[in-house]
Amino acid sequence: MSPKKLETTTLTQKVMRDYYAGCREAKAQGRKVAWSTVIMPTEILVAADVEVLFPENHSATCGTKGLGPALSELAEAAGLSQETCSYVRCDLGVRMGGHSPWGGLPAPDIVFCATASCSTVTKWFEDLTRHFGCELAVVDMPYNFSGSITPHSIDYIVAQFEESIRRIERITGRPFDRDRFTEVMKLSREAHEYWRKCLELGATKPSPITTTDILVNMGPIVCLRGTQAAVDVYRSLYAELSERVASGYVAAGEERFRLFWDNIPFWFALGSLSRRLGEHGAAIVGATYLYHWVREVDPADPLRSMAREYSTAVTMNQSVAHKIDKLCGLISLYQADGLVIHSNRSCKPDALGALDLQRAVERRCGVPVLILEGDHTDSRAVSDAAVQTRIEAYIEALEQKKYGHLRVTTHEIHASR
Ligand code: SF4
Repeated sequence: MSPKKLETTTLTQKVMRDYYAGCREAKAQGRKVAWSTVIMPTEILVAADVEVLFPENHSATCGTKGLGPALSELAEAAGLSQETCSYVRCDLGVRMGGHSPWGGLPAPDIVFCATASCSTVTKWFEDLTRHFGCELAVVDMPYNFSGSITPHSIDYIVAQFEESIRRIERITGRPFDRDRFTEVMKLSREAHEYWRKCLELGATKPSPITTTDILVNMGPIVCLRGTQAAVDVYRSLYAELSERVASGYVAAGEERFRLFWDNIPFWFALGSLSRRLGEHGAAIVGATYLYHWVREVDPADPLRSMAREYSTAVTMNQSVAHKIDKLCGLISLYQADGLVIHSNRSCKPDALGALDLQRAVERRCGVPVLILEGDHTDSRAVSDAAVQTRIEAYIEALEQKKYGHLRVTTHEIHASR
């Protein structure tokens, strides 16, 4: 049985359509447009009335539509290596005239780049600056070994935020409105709180939402932080999930195995991977990726709280030891029976240490760990047959571990006749 569609998904889709249309409209009217990395306190730009677009989100959307290979081939023909992150290749492919679900993105007046996620983004955004002849603002976010951040690092990041604000003032020709910023931060905090509470409800056993459905609804927390639209979406999602929990609704239909996912998903195969696992009663109930948007921003101390939260909420700029601790905590919270690590050919910083993670999680949490080789948008890097074989072997390991025997599936009964 397919899970019921969430009513909030219809709202999210409308909000995202309006968002992209609104950015195009703003550009046409001569308002300023910024492109930003997703790990960036774009609340500053929202408060300055600058429209913000996110090439990473745009590339992920291209991935969900199966456009990754065609766009990547355009970029590769222009000289980009297949080893370059496929988000970059999709973006360049669209800039070279390839198809985009949103008709491409309006040109930026400034690009904003924070280094917390990877070093690829700095080269990518430098290229955007050359391509569009616009300004570049880089915020260097230091690597964290321990999961916490030093006061010195916070000072260093805040100084760069202040410099970014001065650049925005130069571009917009207006002084930055600190009162408006406080209001934007209150909306950001509210949206983040609802997002966190939705994830907490998602961890309920049985889970009221599939991870695919959460991913489909994550656009506003990525692109619309600091807006009323994001608050409305996650307030609605929270109410809907609360009702589902109260009524005992099981989103996956069957949860013989609750699995946790690490790294960015296969955007082009969200539904098919869920169905493939679902045939074995396995459901992905949570993902580390979703927790990159769990933050506690403080309107009373906006810049320092954002320096802390934006540079520590992602696992890519933290040690493997910290990531192991975080993953084990989430596996316990979700009462997961297993972990699937996406060894993502594109997002190497997030895939770094996959074998160490596998060994440590198996030893510490006592759950089997599957590593799937793949890519988040370029389906050419994923072998369907290899994924199928690995999933089947993994399910056998889960069966043995949880139930102490192998289950004969309906498929196998039919095959033996
Ligand atoms: S390598 Fe990873 S963090 Fe960097 S741009 Fe690609 S997906 Fe984002």
